[in-house]
Amino acid sequence: MTSFDLIVVGAGIVGAACADAAAASGLRVAVIEQAGIGGGATAAAMGHLVALDEDPAELALAHYSQQLWDEFVELPAAQFQRCGTLWVARDERECESIGAKIARLRGAGIAASAVDAAELHRLEPALAPGLAGGVRVPGDAVVYPPNVARFLVERARARGAQLYAGRRACMLDAGSVVLDDQTRLSGPALIATGCALPELLPMLPMRARKGHLVITERYVDFVRHQIVELGYADSAHGAQRSSVAFNVQPRSTGQVLIGSSREFDSATPEVSMPMVQRMLARAFDFLPGLRSMQALRIWTGFRPTSIDGKPYLGPVPDQRDLWVAAGHEGLGITTALGSARLLVDQLLGRRCAIDPTPYLPARALPRVSA
Ligand SMILES: Cc1cc2nc3c(=O)[nH]c(=O)nc-3n(C[C@H](O)[C@H](O)[C@H](O)COP(=O)(O)OP(=O)(O)OC[C@H]3O[C@@H](n4cnc5c(N)ncnc54)[C@H](O)[C@@H]3O)c2cc1C
Repeated sequence: MTSFDLIVVGAGIVGAACADAAAASGLRVAVIEQAGIGGGATAAAMGHLVALDEDPAELALAHYSQQLWDEFVELPAAQFQRCGTLWVARDERECESIGAKIARLRGAGIAASAVDAAELHRLEPALAPGLAGGVRVPGDAVVYPPNVARFLVERARARGAQLYAGRRACMLDAGSVVLDDQTRLSGPALIATGCALPELLPMLPMRARKGHLVITERYVDFVRHQIVELGYADSAHGAQRSSVAFNVQPRSTGQVLIGSSREFDSATPEVSMPMVQRMLARAFDFLPGLRSMQALRIWTGFRPTSIDGKPYLGPVPDQRDLWVAAGHEGLGITTALGSARLLVDQLLGRRCAIDPTPYLPARALPRVSA
């Protein structure tokens, strides 16, 4: 039996980042991936590195991670663009939330400024007339996530990590991980399998939240920022069965990536045209010029959604040598690097850069009363 200091199951962006951070700390790492590296939710994502600010813990992790993303600014494969985010308010009522949003962001050390209606249209002339204002967050960025996942796994391998590609972890058994070809690896296991988490850790609640995205042909400079409606958080954090929010991104290719939808209880990957129409209708309200554009491709993906929308990062209670990093919902690209550091720091008993308590998996398990 081969033994390791950490066996990472799953090589989406989260598992890849954990493997990289663990190997960089000198651990002997194994990485098990049943399909393509960065091929799960990671391949479906928009790749927006965004500081969501409604939840202080989520904001702390996003901000910590964004600082770590700076390492990838110059990596060509990451396709890093510091386009910033422009949050758009439709009317005066939505503008009322702008002051508090800016205060939360600045309180976390993130630059943000209010934008009035005239400035909004100067920054993004394609926006519909009549929008009331917004918030500009210049430090937010965009990357191409699957390439980053592959880079992280390759860097871990260069530091000695062993990749078990095309292998599925079938069972966790007394300090070892059993693969589908009966290979048995021994050592602490880190489960980073996204939506598939319950297959190995059924005690941790996880729901798949489907999303649709549409990408257009090239329309260079149609928009310059990632533009998102201020009400986006209601869609992201709400518990509705289905919702859409306006969220548009300029790709480095000149294409326009249009999102986003959220659906619980839709298990199949098929594109739902009613959902796409609902999503596009929302986008046309904000950017009428999209109506005349040619869509190139539509796809879906599933966001791994924990019990409260925040990831599980830490030891699995009452289990020896069993760790988890999963459940990042729609923020897992942004927060992967910080998640990995928090996880490896806990594993090695090091001081964490931010408080790990809000992410401990124990919060999702029933408390046994004394
Ligand atoms: C439409 C959409 C848009 C999004 N946009 C953004 C965005 O703009 N910004 C942002 O920050 N986040 C975004 N997200 C969220 C982000 O994509 C996810 O939070 C993140 O990719 C989760 O990464 P992961 O590594 O946990 O999971 P995954 O990427 O799903 O990786 C899990 C991996 O585990 C493997 N696996 C599963 N079971 C096993 C097993 N038993 N053995 C071996 N391997 C196994 C799978 O094959 C997979 O490769 C978006 C998500 C969607 C769906």
